[in-house]
Amino acid sequence: MDKNCLFCRISRGASSTDFLFENEMLVVFKDINPAAPVHLLIVPKKHIRSINDLSDDDRPILSEMLMVARDMAAQYEVAKSGYRLFFNVERGGGQVIFHLHLHLIGGWNKR
Ligand code: AMP
Ligand code: ZN
Repeated sequence: MDKNCLFCRISRGASSTDFLFENEMLVVFKDINPAAPVHLLIVPKKHIRSINDLSDDDRPILSEMLMVARDMAAQYEVAKSGYRLFFNVERGGGQVIFHLHLHLIGGWNKR
């Protein structure tokens, strides 16, 4: 827990952000500035700065993030039409919140 970290505060329920999903490892909420009709963030509760900072012990977290992304894609009806999953890594990669998060975007053409 980093008390100056926005996603630590959000994932601990210390903000008004609504969770679309929560379990012991992670939370999912809508991106405040969506880049697509569906734009979700899958965020571990553990403070990890970026993909670069993952340790071997974090394998279950990463695996859970992907499995929950799969489920959220189905729930938000973009699984069949298609979607993108991505991590921005450090400033040069477009990361602005330095707490690991997986973007799920889709819903442009739900056919
Ligand atoms: P990144 O560029 O990968 O670090 O992405 C950070 C994302 O967090 C951006 O898409 C922002 O729109 C989003 N974001 C920032 N603050 C909030 C917030 N309070 N609630 C939801 N999403 C946020
Ligand atoms: Zn954090």
